[in-house]
Amino acid sequence: MRVPLVDLVAQNTETADDIRVAVDHVFETASYIGGSDVGAFETEYAEATGAGHCVGVGNGTDALELALRAAGVTAGGEVVLPANTFIATAEAVSRIGAVPVFADVDDEHLLLDPAAAAAAVTSRTQAVVPVHLFGQVAPVGALRRALGSSDVPIVEDGAQSQGAESWDGRAGSLGLVSSTSFYPGKNLGAAGDAGAVTTDDPEIARTVRLIASHGSERKYVHELVGFNSRMDSLQAAVLRVKLRHLADWNRRRRVAAARYGALLEGVAGVRLPSSAPGNLDVWHLYVVRVDDRDRVLARLNEAGIGAAIHYPTPLHLTAAYQGAGLGRGSFPVAEAAADRILSLPIYPHITADQQEFVAEELAAALL
Ligand SMILES: *Cc1c(COP(=O)(O)O)cnc(C)c1O
Repeated sequence: MRVPLVDLVAQNTETADDIRVAVDHVFETASYIGGSDVGAFETEYAEATGAGHCVGVGNGTDALELALRAAGVTAGGEVVLPANTFIATAEAVSRIGAVPVFADVDDEHLLLDPAAAAAAVTSRTQAVVPVHLFGQVAPVGALRRALGSSDVPIVEDGAQSQGAESWDGRAGSLGLVSSTSFYPGKNLGAAGDAGAVTTDDPEIARTVRLIASHGSERKYVHELVGFNSRMDSLQAAVLRVKLRHLADWNRRRRVAAARYGALLEGVAGVRLPSSAPGNLDVWHLYVVRVDDRDRVLARLNEAGIGAAIHYPTPLHLTAAYQGAGLGRGSFPVAEAAADRILSLPIYPHITADQQEFVAEELAAALL
């Protein structure tokens, strides 16, 4: 048996017919940029997240850069973000010429620790970025409270959390502005690169649209220096079909997560992930923690199981960000987790047999 980390081919069998019709329509109308599917997807995705506005863009990294720029982040400013996230969170900050300021995460959920984030805020801080990692909603309400009277904007990185909810509300509607990615392997994935920015603030939405389209709302009238990051009509057409499946796919991920929980409950030596109270997790990743992780990972991979690590190196220890001079010991929780985390395969179409095989192999590797 082979169990990939994600199975996009299985997903395709469910959507292929509808996607073919949708893609044909784009070619028939030949509106490849800014076609009706882009506007329709923006409306539908805004509705799905509960945000007032959605702007479709080229990818998730651009989406975060655009969200930060629209929130007022400028060259030389500081942006607080968690030490363990995908590097794109920090890249979006660096591309503006602003400085990523890392903060540690909480040990239970590996999400930005509100107290640590608040402690990292200075007079130069222009935004704080909670990342809704692994499909969990980061505690944005607690973060807002920890930030106290400071009016520093909260910009969500929702690349891993489409459809996730918490007591605070839905991911993508909790900060001043939010970004997401539709990279194919995300819970809602395009057939290539795409991303989106969501916000309740019409001015922020307008600014994002402006920057992402050469600073121009009307052809050849350029209000500011922008760049080009638009969502392709083809990607919007694909995403509209898949958005109709998102709630069901997220439900199936929750079933799969519960099944792993039951299968691994009695297995010694494995720490299971948990959902925070009030959190309706969408299980983008199922991340356990084990000792001797590299050996366990190698053994699972040899057995045909696509287990992986998200992410092997906290950002302050990567070559890309070592210039900040933060060594080992700077963020103990993120560093300790990086040595033990192990992502097991999870996706809506994973079967009970596949999960039993993963659980058996993991238990055997831990003996
Ligand atoms: C995938 C991802 C991104 C970047 O998205 P792209 O579409 O690949 O540019 C940003 N942040 C996080 C947390 C991600 O997982």
